[in-house]
Amino acid sequence: MFSDLPTHAPDKILQLMQMFREDTRTDKIDLGVGVYKNAEGQTPVMRAIKAAEKKLWEVETTKSYVALAGAPDYNDAMVKLVLGDAVARDQVASVATPGGTGAVRQSFELVKMVNPDATVWYSNPTWGNHVSILKYLGVANKAYRYFDAASGTVDFDGMIADLNSAKPGDVVLLHGCCHNPTGANLTAEQWQTVVDTLLAKELLPMIDVAYQGFGDGLEEDAAGLRLVASSVPETLIAASCSKNFGVYRERTGILMAVSADKGKVGPAQANLAYLNRQNYSFPPDHGARLVSMILTDDALLADWKAELEEVRLGMLELRQQLADELRRLTNTDRFDFIARHRGMFSMLGLTEDQIVTLREEHGIYAVSDSRINIAGLNTKTVPILAKAVAEVVGV
Ligand code: PMP
Repeated sequence: MFSDLPTHAPDKILQLMQMFREDTRTDKIDLGVGVYKNAEGQTPVMRAIKAAEKKLWEVETTKSYVALAGAPDYNDAMVKLVLGDAVARDQVASVATPGGTGAVRQSFELVKMVNPDATVWYSNPTWGNHVSILKYLGVANKAYRYFDAASGTVDFDGMIADLNSAKPGDVVLLHGCCHNPTGANLTAEQWQTVVDTLLAKELLPMIDVAYQGFGDGLEEDAAGLRLVASSVPETLIAASCSKNFGVYRERTGILMAVSADKGKVGPAQANLAYLNRQNYSFPPDHGARLVSMILTDDALLADWKAELEEVRLGMLELRQQLADELRRLTNTDRFDFIARHRGMFSMLGLTEDQIVTLREEHGIYAVSDSRINIAGLNTKTVPILAKAVAEVVGV
C-alpha cells in the first residue's frame, strides 16, 4: 500500500539547506533558511528564555495536561502582546497552537468549516506553506498582486484592484509585518485603504504575524493588524513566537479570532478548542509557558525587549550596509530598496540563473526566487555578497 503513495515536490528551502550542508567550501554563506542568526552565524537561545527555563525547572511540579486552548496565562499575554489595547480581551477567542504554522492551518480549517465556498486570497508571492496548506486542505485559493519586482515595492494598486474582485465572505491573507519573502510592507495609509476595501467588499482578514519586533519595533509592527482588528467585524490572526522569542523547535504559536460582537466569541472559542482536539488535542506547553513567564515578569520582559531590539537594529544595519555597498559597486540605486525593507527577508530581483551562479561560483546560497535572509549576513560577508551580486548582474 505504501508504495502507492504519491510523491511530493520537496520544499525548496529544505532542499537548499541540504545542499548547503553538503558543500565543502569553508567560505560558503547560507542566506536560505528563515532562521535568525547572529554575527557568529548562531541562532542563540535568548537570555530571557534561558532565565525562564531555569526558573521553570525549579518551580514546575507536573507535566500533566493543561487545557485544550493552552494555558490561559499564555493566551492572555499573547493577546495583549499582539493586539495591545486595540480590542477588549472579551472580544478575542484564542488557542495556543504548535507554532505559527499550526495557527495558520487551524485558521484555514475554521474558514472551511464556517464558509466552504470562501476563496482565500494570498499575496503573490507569499510564504510557500500558505499555498501548500490551502491546497492540501482543498480550500479554494487565488493570488492577489503584491510585489513589483522591478522597483522592489508593493504593487498597491494591483493589490487593491485584485481584492476588489473578491466575493463577499472571501478571506484575505495578509502578513502583519516583515512580509515573507519580499520584505516590502504596507504603509499606515495603505493599511487604511485595505481596511476600507475589506469593509466595502465584506471580506474576512486573516493576518499572519510571524516577525513582530523584527521590523520597526514591537508596537509599530502590530499597528496594521490592530487597525484591521479594531475596524472590521471579524479578524483571524495567526501569530508565531518562533522568531521573536527564538523558540523555533518548541512550536509556540497562537490563533485568535477577534469579533466586534462579543456574542460570537463563545462559539468561536468552542470551535477553536474543537479544532485543537481534532488535530493534536493539547497544544505544546513548554515554549508557551516560557513566553508567558517572560511577558508577565518585569525584569524578564525588559531583558527580552532589549535583546529583541539588538536583533532588530542589527538587521537594519546590515540592510543599510548592503544597500550602500551595492549602490557603490553597481553605481545605481537599483538595490536601495533593501534598506527600506523590513524583517529578515528581501528579494534581490535576480533571475534563477543568477541565483545558481551565486551558489555555484561564489558559495552563496539564496532561495531560487532570489529571497535572501538578511540575518544570514554579517558585516564581513556583506561586501562579499555585494561583490558577487554586482558580478552576476554584470557591472
Ligand atoms: N508565517 C510566516 C510568514 C512565516 O515566515 C513562518 C515561519 N517561516 C510562519 C508563519 C510559521 O512559523 P512557525 O510555525 O515556525 O512558528
